Amino acid sequence: MPAKVCPVCGNHAVSDDHKFCEECGTSFAEWEAKKRVDDERRQSEEAERAAERRREEQLREQKRKHEQERQAEEEALEAKVGEDPEVRAAREQLEEAEREAKQREEQIREQLGAAERQARERVEKQQREEEKRREAAEAAAQAEREREEVRQRVKELEEQRATE
Ligand SMILES: [Zn+2]
Repeated sequence: MPAKVCPVCGNHAVSDDHKFCEECGTSFAEWEAKKRVDDERRQSEEAERAAERRREEQLREQKRKHEQERQAEEEALEAKVGEDPEVRAAREQLEEAEREAKQREEQIREQLGAAERQARERVEKQQREEEKRREAAEAAAQAEREREEVRQRVKELEEQRATE
């Protein structure tokens, strides 16, 4: 029963005390030493990468904390600025001006609405008067036509009588 397998060619070595592979000549001791070195190098590389990741994570955490502190300071500053009497007075002035502007706008809107209503009433009144004038003119023309018919009938009757 062979005790070990050559790691390079997979050949079954005859026994444990063989130092070289009978097939490919690989030195088992050298191969083991090289494997150890490779493993150690890989482990140290991994450890380095892990350390690098930790450093980056710490940096990010520091940045985050710093940003939080900066925001807190800015908010505190804004709060203090807001408490300043001159700032408060200016803000109240602005709010008052905005209220007044809104009132003026409402007044102007009401004036506009009233002017439009009056103008509409004037136009409607003019239209009604125009309509009445037209009706009067039509009535006068109708009366004239009727008088003309009567005159015509009278004339015809007179002519009839003259021939009798
Ligand atoms: Zn071999």
